[in-house]
Amino acid sequence: MTDKALSYVCGVANAPLLGDTIGRGLDRAARRWPDREALVSPSHDVRWSWRDFAARVDALAAGFLALGLERGARIGVWSLNRPEWTLTQFAAAKAGLILVTINPAYRLSELEFALAKVGCAALVTATAFKTSNYMDMLNTLIPELAQAQPGQLKAAKLPMLRAVIQVGGPLCPGTIPFDDVARMGGARQRETLATLADTLQFDDPVNIQFTSGTTGSPKGVTLTHHNILNNGYFVGRAMRLTERDRICIPVPLYHCFGMVMGNLAAVTCGATMVYPGEGFDPLATLQTVEREKCTALYGVPTMFIAELDHPDFASFDLTSLRTGIMAGAPCPVEVMRRVNDQMNMREVTIAYGMTETSPVSFQSAVDDPEERRVATVGRIHPHVEVKVVDLEGRVVPRGARGELCTRGYSVMLGYWDEPEKTADVLDKAGWMHTGDLAVIDDEGYCNIVGRIKDMVIRGGENLYPREIEEFLYRHPKIQDVQIFGVADDRYGEELCAWIRVRAGETLTADEVRAFCQGQIAHNKIPRYIEFVGEFPMTVTGKIQKFIMRDTVESRLGLTAAKTA
Ligand code: AMP
Repeated sequence: MTDKALSYVCGVANAPLLGDTIGRGLDRAARRWPDREALVSPSHDVRWSWRDFAARVDALAAGFLALGLERGARIGVWSLNRPEWTLTQFAAAKAGLILVTINPAYRLSELEFALAKVGCAALVTATAFKTSNYMDMLNTLIPELAQAQPGQLKAAKLPMLRAVIQVGGPLCPGTIPFDDVARMGGARQRETLATLADTLQFDDPVNIQFTSGTTGSPKGVTLTHHNILNNGYFVGRAMRLTERDRICIPVPLYHCFGMVMGNLAAVTCGATMVYPGEGFDPLATLQTVEREKCTALYGVPTMFIAELDHPDFASFDLTSLRTGIMAGAPCPVEVMRRVNDQMNMREVTIAYGMTETSPVSFQSAVDDPEERRVATVGRIHPHVEVKVVDLEGRVVPRGARGELCTRGYSVMLGYWDEPEKTADVLDKAGWMHTGDLAVIDDEGYCNIVGRIKDMVIRGGENLYPREIEEFLYRHPKIQDVQIFGVADDRYGEELCAWIRVRAGETLTADEVRAFCQGQIAHNKIPRYIEFVGEFPMTVTGKIQKFIMRDTVESRLGLTAAKTA
């Protein structure tokens, strides 16, 4: 037996978990900070205090009840970042409904899958945004809609769906205008709401989020009030948010980054939610930070890069900024340093997590040494446990690589109506197996070093793309690089590199090979080296390596040798 420390960490708490439902959390905010701004969305002309906001939420919740939606019913929301999204989020929670957050980039078959999978009884939908015409898509999916009595829809493909609530105009036949719903609730519904406030439980499911599909198959992650209200609270505490803070939220609300780390951090800490626009736009984000004097800014790494590289970047006064979060994908150290220095975000943090864990389990602290703040995902969150295990499920020593598993209040109930897929990732002892590869050091700081599924096995040897990517980033002409495996009939898999070259530079595959020669082991030098303009990515900034793999394999006709 050795006394070498193992990769198990448990977050010491400086505050107890909240034992509230989301509705109670909002009522508390409205009592504590009635006149402070809750939600500001300049492009929608919205500036609501916590008192106004809570009153609007109550009216909408009463309207949902008047539509006949009952406790536990699913209500979808399909829109970019708008104030109506957030009203729906809180009103659904108050009415005891389960909010189903639908990616605004979804198209017909994905939308049908999501609505049918969880049996949505109502859908709040935007009308259109840029090239997405939501109402057109809905009319194609539900031909019965145009003739339906609003609120009494009967649709062959979606038998549970009764009400389509339309945000914005022009109003389409068969739908209920969003603003009308808040006028539908009467005294009876208000009474029911008051009763619900006492009967809803914080362990009730309140949200289903479809995972972004880096693996290709969407699953409905089912989360409770307790899961996400607490995660929002501890994310806010990690940044020391108070009622004097104003969070600029350009990240999508349909994803936990916006709705938990943004909206629920705000309601538990009293900070203001500031929306710079419906879809991400670097210029609008910089303008909003300046005009609204935001103190915190969120983003996935690519958003921060777009802001820093904007031609007008230097003209903005960002001195109000103090903190914020970069998360969602590996955060390059160089970008973190620029955010820290050039955006005045001296207390910027990195967070790591996944939808299934509400999402955050690691976050750097505002007073961690800069080196740790820019180069690790920080330390374990309060009340949460993490262990790193090898392929046999044994906890590895500190400093060794393995799969990160999370346990605690933040772990989802499961995937909606998918007991087998749930059992694949959630074990009997309560651990969520994340599929992420991590290393935890002696002081408890964590680094995410890749995804298990991205690991390439070439001739029986495990190769870690992240390691090779980091080496290639050092090449002065390489702007960005992704390494992934492709099928090979001799080795099982071979490495392929997709490289984006810096503007104005040229680079050849032979130059890249020469750069690697003698510096990294020969089996880590990619067999295929290709130059591309961009990588396939999800809206939340995740690179979709499976698409790259499919593209290369089908173009080159690659297949693996058959095995027994
Ligand atoms: P999602 O469920 O869409 O939030 O995606 C979760 C996945 O994003 C995780 O399993 C990680 O692979 C990745 N991820 C999130 N945050 C980070 C981070 N700070 N560093 C590296 N990867 C991250």
